[in-house]
Amino acid sequence: MQETKCQNRFDSGSGAGAAVFPYKRFLMPFSVLVVLTMLPALAADAPPATPPFDARRSFNYLTQVCNIGSRTSGTRGMEQQQRMIAEHFARFQAQVKFQAFDAPHPLTGQPVRMNNIVVSWQPAAKDRVLLACHYDTRPLPDRDENPRLAAAGLFVGANDGASGVALFMEMAHQMRQIKPKYGVDFVFFDGEELVYDDRRDPYFLGSTHFATDYRDVPPAYRYLYGVLVDMVGDRNLALYQEANSLRLAPEPTASVWNTAKRLNVREFIAKKRHEVRDDHLPLNQIARIPTTDIIDFDYPHWHTTRDLPAACSGASLAKVGVVLLKWLETVPAPPAGGNPQPPD
Ligand SMILES: [Zn+2]
Repeated sequence: MQETKCQNRFDSGSGAGAAVFPYKRFLMPFSVLVVLTMLPALAADAPPATPPFDARRSFNYLTQVCNIGSRTSGTRGMEQQQRMIAEHFARFQAQVKFQAFDAPHPLTGQPVRMNNIVVSWQPAAKDRVLLACHYDTRPLPDRDENPRLAAAGLFVGANDGASGVALFMEMAHQMRQIKPKYGVDFVFFDGEELVYDDRRDPYFLGSTHFATDYRDVPPAYRYLYGVLVDMVGDRNLALYQEANSLRLAPEPTASVWNTAKRLNVREFIAKKRHEVRDDHLPLNQIARIPTTDIIDFDYPHWHTTRDLPAACSGASLAKVGVVLLKWLETVPAPPAGGNPQPPD
């Protein structure tokens, strides 16, 4: 992603809390009588059960993806990752489709073969929601403080690239245990940042292609809402509401953060912070799918050689995973007559 405004990028420190379990509130020293008389009231606003999510396994997935090395669009590393993703989701009987297209390489002009990957659960459902991430990695760690590394170092992209993939790989284990309200697609965007020069090279190639195809060749189904995840593996997770998401997709933004509140996941902070250009813009503005971006943009290792698994944690992935799994079960129905058209 790309920041549109240079805002204060220091870490607020508010996201690094220990896990708080929703059942703690039941351990108050009430007398049995009081508890019994209060039971109906407690039941009415009792937090919903937290969906299962194996934090350790999700972190193993993150490490496996990073072990490939660079996963820049059109490279062998990217091909290896594509095989890993296709094989993984096929094991869970999901439908896996590749959406291929070519884009010119920013340095040579030669065509680069891009592939978005669409993993569909309940593929026959006509009303669907979309969870998306990008799975390519930036060619270079160009914000590294060491100029030699910035120009030629390895960018691993543990948070910026692998975190979304690992999250969805772990969620695959849970998709048959939950009861999603609508059909669900996990969409992996290629070409989010085949970028060598921020001012010259276009971002969001995969999501732009996907959104344009959805608009121009309307499928037999429709997406009611979308949720994009980007940089959700940070050890010090703090997920504020992103400005473009609030403006273009107020409904899924509200319902995702409300779900987190009900589950007592305090890393989701219902306050606006940062305005980020990311894959949700083409989804909102071209495909007209109201799509919110869950992104922790206060990440000191962004676009450096230090964006490594050590800077990430499975516990952070689990915070996002349980919220998304619960959200899939409780997505509010869009207003009659369809979603209002998001502003441009
Ligand atoms: Zn990036």
